[in-house]
Amino acid sequence: MENKKEFRTWLDDMQLSHPLVIAGPCSAETEAQVLQIAHQLKDTDATVFRAGIWKPRTRPGNFEGVGTVGLQWLQKAKQETGMQIATEVANSNHVEAALKHDVDILWLGARTTVSPFIVQEIAEALKGTDKIVLIKNPINPDLPLWLGAVERLYTSNISKLGVIHRGFSTYEKSKYRNNPEWQIPIDLKNHFPDLPLLCDPSHIGGRRNLIFDICQTALDLNFDGFMVETHFDPDNAWSDAKQQITPDVLVQMMIDLKVRKKQAASEDYLFELHKLRANIDVLDDKLLGMLGKRMQVADSIGQLKKENNVSILQTNRWNEILGKMILQGEEKGLSEEFILKIYKAIHQESINHQKKVINKN
Ligand code: PEP
Ligand code: MN
Repeated sequence: MENKKEFRTWLDDMQLSHPLVIAGPCSAETEAQVLQIAHQLKDTDATVFRAGIWKPRTRPGNFEGVGTVGLQWLQKAKQETGMQIATEVANSNHVEAALKHDVDILWLGARTTVSPFIVQEIAEALKGTDKIVLIKNPINPDLPLWLGAVERLYTSNISKLGVIHRGFSTYEKSKYRNNPEWQIPIDLKNHFPDLPLLCDPSHIGGRRNLIFDICQTALDLNFDGFMVETHFDPDNAWSDAKQQITPDVLVQMMIDLKVRKKQAASEDYLFELHKLRANIDVLDDKLLGMLGKRMQVADSIGQLKKENNVSILQTNRWNEILGKMILQGEEKGLSEEFILKIYKAIHQESINHQKKVINKN
């Protein structure tokens, strides 16, 4: 399935002068709550009103959504505000109910995209619909699974498609609720440059003070817009209280975010860029040269260890290098996270080299 220009038409048809914003509460709680938030969002950059009706909770016993009755509240919000409405569907019954209530945008949640069985069931229930369907990334950092869901829906003749990046779950705790792993949506964009790509900063951040920076990063990476959880009383929301922001905060955020141009045509800009890129190319060349040399030294160490029948992994030495490099990296403005990643990769490559030498007859 090659890239399709038609992917973009639904977004172009909206004729927005700003990134697309889908906003609204994590969950529809009561009719009054839905209507109040929708009215607060009515004259903002938010074009689409979201609310979860069926809530997939990680552990049972939490609020699991109001169910189908919430769709009537969403319809009422649409009638009163003129906003389009969006909700998550997780099986074919949900799809049927959402279509019956004329929901404009249906999205597949992260817990759905992981299962090709359920994605297929939903794709078949949606067959040929002219509604917009958005696909969140799977919980785990697995690009083919995400691409596969896009392909299953496309094969069901759903062409108004888009994707939502909501980050990836990890066992190790980090500052994010779900690690952004920006490389994955970037890779997805390389597969389908015309597929609208939105960012869900709420589920990536998990805390409202991270939302602005995540949105700015998304814009800097040419994302097309956001899905942001918004509530008039975030602290007392029935789900995802820590990550919701008020409609006022959303309005201010849209003012403060910098939307940068994708390209600039001025001669000066192009000349400067060319010069800097030439510089980068020279440095990349040096970098690879140094890495090649480092691996040659690793080969010699492998040979020495082989002759003396010593094991490859020397934990003390490795920890010593890592500690030293983190300190030196800091002096050069390189983050600990980056040094850890790069040195783990170098160490692994070095072990591979030594293994080859030691196992050679
Ligand atoms: C949500 O949007 O409220 C939601 C449950 O998201 P996710 O599928 O990304 O966890
Ligand atoms: Mn949520």
